[in-house]
Amino acid sequence: MPEIVDLRSDTVTKPSPGMRKAMAEAEVGDDVFHEDPSVNRLEEMVAALYGKEAAVYVASGTMANQLAIRAQTHHGDEIIMERTSHPFNSEAGALAALAGVQVNLVDGQQGIMDAEQIRAVVRSPNVHHAPTALICLENTHNRGGGSIWPLDKIRSIRDVATATNVPMHLDGARLLNACVATGLTPRDYAQYFDSCTLCLSKGLGAPVGSLVIGTKPFVERVHRFRKQFGGGMRQAGILAAAGIYALQYNVERLAEDHLNAVRLARGLADIGGLHIDVNAVVTNILYFHVRHPGLTVPMLIERLKTEGVLMLGTGPHSIRAVTHLDVSKEGIDRAIDVLRRVVR
Ligand SMILES: *Cc1c(COP(=O)(O)O)cnc(C)c1O
Repeated sequence: MPEIVDLRSDTVTKPSPGMRKAMAEAEVGDDVFHEDPSVNRLEEMVAALYGKEAAVYVASGTMANQLAIRAQTHHGDEIIMERTSHPFNSEAGALAALAGVQVNLVDGQQGIMDAEQIRAVVRSPNVHHAPTALICLENTHNRGGGSIWPLDKIRSIRDVATATNVPMHLDGARLLNACVATGLTPRDYAQYFDSCTLCLSKGLGAPVGSLVIGTKPFVERVHRFRKQFGGGMRQAGILAAAGIYALQYNVERLAEDHLNAVRLARGLADIGGLHIDVNAVVTNILYFHVRHPGLTVPMLIERLKTEGVLMLGTGPHSIRAVTHLDVSKEGIDRAIDVLRRVVR
């Protein structure tokens, strides 16, 4: 049986021997007392990377978004986000359950919105309205197919936010994918946001962990809510060490994942019955459509699985594939071969 090519998500990566060694050797302390040197170091590294005052290490990307939103809103507030955004669709109802906010959804294109769309839905002060408390963007955009926000669009939304006195949050789970693809720095993006996140357990290859990044007073508030959410971890340096390792060794190589995604997209585009916009593949996520007589998405996923290729069905006609550091160029070629055979 050849090795499994797992393209369901970039969360499936496993810590490399080098990363495991760094974890085993990590200096640790009680992080709830701010005494874990490895966690402290990771938080300082990421704050500097984003050009912000402070950062806090948390268990997951969901927790990072939810803490940032909780810390910047009050129950009954309204936040603005794109209809297909991760916090709205994939965080188990946490916006309602934990932050107690309602959401004003905007339709984007591949997850990207215009400033005019935002301006149109910011609430005016009125006793009937839920006050607009936060504007949330996602970069890269997961359901948008790993799309990248153009900086000028972010800037014009920031102008609306400043004019209306509404803070901005960035779901930056995969911000480093955007940076590697564009050559921009995390600071170039983060400067427009009051709060940001970063996931270490996606393409960066760490087993656990995300960060929330912002001003010192904001991060202090997040600390309190992290404890309240049950996310205060103790000798978390063993995990943080994996994050430090990921930032040192696994950032530049994201470019390989992006090349592999395009390689896969080109291979798919040649197979009759499968449809993909190759030009829309700009980072490590791609969606393609199955329009083939007698072949449903669940059938295709099942057939691929028996051949050791894993992908994720995301709709009646759509499938997602995500490239990452545990999938090689050879793995991509095998996935294309298997797809071609199975579809035929
Ligand atoms: C994966 C992801 C998250 C966080 O997910 P967790 O599984 O909770 O770590 C947040 N935002 C985006 C855009 C994501 O893709």
